[in-house]
Amino acid sequence: MLNLEEVPLTQLKGVGNKLAETLAKLELYTLQDLLFHLPFRYEDRTRILPISQLRQGQHALFEAEVYSNRVVMGKRRSLELVVRDSSGQVTLRFYHFTAAQARQLSIGSYLRCYGEARLGRTGLEFYHPEYQVITPGDIHQVPDTLTPIYTLTEGIQQPRMRSLCKQALTYLNRGNLKELLPKEILSHLQLPVLETAIAYLHSPPVEADQEALLEGQHPCQQRLIMEELLAHQLSLLALRQGAQQHPALPCMNLEASQSFRNRFLAQLPFSLTSAQQRVFQEIETDMQQNFPMLRLVQGDVGSGKTVVAALAALNMVAAGAQVALMAPTEILAEQHLASFSTWLTPLGISVGWLSGKTKGKTRQTTLDAIVRGNLNVVIGTHALFQEEVLFAKLGLAIIDEQHRFGVHQRLSLKDKGLNSGIVPHQLIMTATPIPRTLAMSAYADLDTSIIDELPAGRQAIETFVIPDTRREDMLKRVQTVCESGQQAYWVCTLIEESEALQCQAAEDTAEWLTNNLPGLVVGLVHGRMKTADKSLIMDQFKAGRIDLLVATTVIEVGVDVPNASLILIENPERLGLAQLHQLRGRVGRGTLQSYCALMYRPPLSENGKQRLAVMRESNDGFIIAEKDLELRGPGEVLGTRQTGLVSFRVADLQRDAAWLEQIRPIAQAIQPSSPIAQALIERWVGQRKRFAEV
Ligand code: ADP
Ligand code: MG
Repeated sequence: MLNLEEVPLTQLKGVGNKLAETLAKLELYTLQDLLFHLPFRYEDRTRILPISQLRQGQHALFEAEVYSNRVVMGKRRSLELVVRDSSGQVTLRFYHFTAAQARQLSIGSYLRCYGEARLGRTGLEFYHPEYQVITPGDIHQVPDTLTPIYTLTEGIQQPRMRSLCKQALTYLNRGNLKELLPKEILSHLQLPVLETAIAYLHSPPVEADQEALLEGQHPCQQRLIMEELLAHQLSLLALRQGAQQHPALPCMNLEASQSFRNRFLAQLPFSLTSAQQRVFQEIETDMQQNFPMLRLVQGDVGSGKTVVAALAALNMVAAGAQVALMAPTEILAEQHLASFSTWLTPLGISVGWLSGKTKGKTRQTTLDAIVRGNLNVVIGTHALFQEEVLFAKLGLAIIDEQHRFGVHQRLSLKDKGLNSGIVPHQLIMTATPIPRTLAMSAYADLDTSIIDELPAGRQAIETFVIPDTRREDMLKRVQTVCESGQQAYWVCTLIEESEALQCQAAEDTAEWLTNNLPGLVVGLVHGRMKTADKSLIMDQFKAGRIDLLVATTVIEVGVDVPNASLILIENPERLGLAQLHQLRGRVGRGTLQSYCALMYRPPLSENGKQRLAVMRESNDGFIIAEKDLELRGPGEVLGTRQTGLVSFRVADLQRDAAWLEQIRPIAQAIQPSSPIAQALIERWVGQRKRFAEV
C-alpha cells in the first residue's frame, strides 16, 4: 500500500523537476500535501448560460461565436471581441494579448468562456475571461461538480493545479491516506472520515452549501481544521513532555530562601500586590519540583513582573545554582541589571552582565566567571543564548518579553545547564497579553500565571488622538508638563521601514524640539547610538536631568521612569496595538496622572481609525490584545518569530477559536507520546518542517 506522505509529486504525470520546484514554493512536496492543499473558493461551471441571462457582477459560463474582432486604441490598447449566441451578444476585452491570441480568436471561431460580467463601455463586458476554443457540434461536457479555485504561485495556473489535484485524488479510496483520528471522536463530533472529506472538498457536488464552504464551516472542512489544531496542540504538549523529562534542581532550601526574601522585601519601598504574591507562589511551587518549570507570567505593563522575577531568582540562588535573565533589548537588559544589582548585591549575591557588545577581555572574564559559578545571576540579551556561554550550574532561566524570542531559542536553553546534569526551570514574562485563544494554541507548552492587578495608586492613562497638523499645540503641552517638573517622551516612529531613516527622523525631531523649547533639556536615544551613549542618556533621563526624551521605538519595553507623565507617539497608525500599549506604558508608572497623545498623519484609514479608537477607549492590555487579533490576525499579533507556529494549512485561529477549548481534553486523552499523536504531528507539523529545511 502506498503511503501518500512519502510519495513525491514527481510521481504524478506531467510533474517534472521544474514544476516540482514551483509546487515547493507552496510547500507542496508529497501527494498528501497536494491533497491537503484545499481550494479557497469554488465556481459553478456546471451550467452554460444563455447570454441574454447574464447579469452584471455574475460569474458565468457561456458559449458563443466570435462576431467581430478588433484592436481598439482608447486610453489603453485592447483586443475587443463581440461574441454571440442565439440569445444575444456580449463583449470580451483583453488588455494583455499576443498577436497569436488575436489571430486564434478569429471571427467565426467558437469559444467557451468563464468570467465575471461587468459594466463596460459597450454594455456588459468580460475582462480577460478564461476561454477555450471549441468545435461547434462536438459534445463538450460541463463539469458536474463545483470548480475548485486554489492558491497558486508564479509558474502554475488554475487548470494545471486542478488537474494535478484530480490526479492526486485517484490515489484516494485505497486506504492510502491514513485516518488517524479515533472513530469514537469522529462519530462523537459527527465529522466525516478523512478520505471522504478530502474528496468532497476538491470536488464538491453542485448542491453543496457554498456559503458554508466559503466560511470554512462545512463539516468536511471542520474535520480537517480540527485535526490540524489537534496536531499543533499535541506537538506543543510533546515539546513540553520532552523538556520535562530532564531533571531540574528543586529549590528546597526553604530557610535560606526565606531569609533572602525577608531582607529583599524589607528594602522595597512598597509591599507586593496580592496578584504578585499569588503568582510568586505558583512559581515557587513549580520550582520545588525536580523537573523543569515551564511557566509564562502575563502581566500588563507596570504590573510589577520584575519583582516577582527577583523573588524567583532568590530561591534559586538559595538552592545553590545560577540564574540567567534575558531581555530582548540592551536598554531593557540594562535596566534589569540596575534593579537586580540594587536589590541583590546587598544580600551578598553577585550579579553579572553579558550582551553582544561585551567584547574582548571583559567578555572572556565574564564567560569564565559564569562557567566557574562565580556569578550567581547573569543578566543580558540574546547573547546569553549563544553556544559558548556555559554555566557551572544554571538552575533558572528568566526570559522577559517573551514574544520576541522564538520557541526554539527558548528550548535551546535546556542544553545550557546539562554539564551539571540539570536543565533550568523556565520563567517567561510578557507584558503583551496574549488573547486566550492564541495562548491556548501557541503556548500550550507553558503553564500560565497572570498578574491581574496594578500596584495601588496608579491612575488610568488618558489617551487622545490628534492629527499632526496640531504639532505646535503639542509643543506647548510638552512645555507645560516639563515646566511643572514632570517629564515627557516624544516617540518617532516611521512611515519608512528603515531603521536608518527612523533614527534620522528622531534626530531631526530632537533638533526641532531643542530649537523650539529653549527652556528645556532635550535628550535623544535611538537604535544606532553606542550602548554607552544610550545608557548615559537614559541615566540622565532617569535622574531628571533631561526633561524631554526623543526616542525611537527602542524605548518600547520596560523603561521605567515614574516621573514621566506625557508620551507623544508619532504615526501611531503604523504600529500594532500591542506595541502602542507597550509604548504608552512608559507613562503612568508612578502616581502622577499621565497622558498619551497619538499624533497621526491624516488621512486615517477606516481600520486605522478603529485601532486608535481602541487605544483611546481602553487601558486594558487584554482587551487591546483581543482587538488587535480581530483587526490584524494572529501572525501579526504574535510577531514574526512565532509565525512558524501559527502558519496553519486549513485552520484559522480566529475563525476556528471555538475548537481550541474542545480540543484540549482530546489532546490530553490522546497523549502526546502515543503513536497516533506522533503520526498527527508528523502529518501536520513535522513533515513540512523537514522538507522545508532540505
Ligand atoms: P512590568 O510588569 O511592566 O515589568 P515593573 O516590574 O517594571 O513592571 O514595575 C513597574 C514599576 O512598579 C516599577 O517602578 C516597580 O518598582 C513598581 N512596583 C512593582 N511592584 C509594585 C508594588 N507592589 N507596589 C508599588 N510599586 C510597585
Ligand atoms: Mg518589565
